[in-house]
Amino acid sequence: MTDYAKMYAKIGRIMGTLTPLRADCGRLCDHSCCKGDENTGMRLFPGEESTLPVRELDNGVRLVVCGGSCNREDRPLACRIFPFFPTVDSRGRVYIEEDARGKRVCPMIGNSDKIIYDKRFFRALRRVGKILAKDPACLEFMTEATQEIDTYRALLGE
Ligand code: SF4
Ligand code: SF4
Repeated sequence: MTDYAKMYAKIGRIMGTLTPLRADCGRLCDHSCCKGDENTGMRLFPGEESTLPVRELDNGVRLVVCGGSCNREDRPLACRIFPFFPTVDSRGRVYIEEDARGKRVCPMIGNSDKIIYDKRFFRALRRVGKILAKDPACLEFMTEATQEIDTYRALLGE
């Protein structure tokens, strides 16, 4: 059994304060990924807890419903890594990819060639992805997310 509290504490230490850019990307878009309301939110990973309000949907998905503001230290993993995601292939190998599900929201998606990213963020996220992929529930969550991302990409014609 995975000790989730320990695992997410380690993940938190690995990600630290890293973000895709060295600067605050929210200035590009007026923080458009944080315009939540009581019906939208960011998904928690399996076993991830949050000090923010959480809503559980009928299908068991747990969403952080933040209303658009939070203490940065309290934001869930999905927010820390957006607009990227640790996707997996059928053998459980981890790849860091743009999360096409956020294409309408995030101006960074699709513009990687014009942006100078902080490489440390991607190294950290890859380490995090490998840790997550060792837990069966997280691996399943990542596999489903990978399929969703692929579907969005296909719909967007990429
Ligand atoms: S939408 Fe993208 S660019 Fe804007 S704050 Fe969120 S991650 Fe940064
Ligand atoms: S939890 Fe925080 S970082 Fe995540 S969407 Fe809400 S306000 Fe933004």
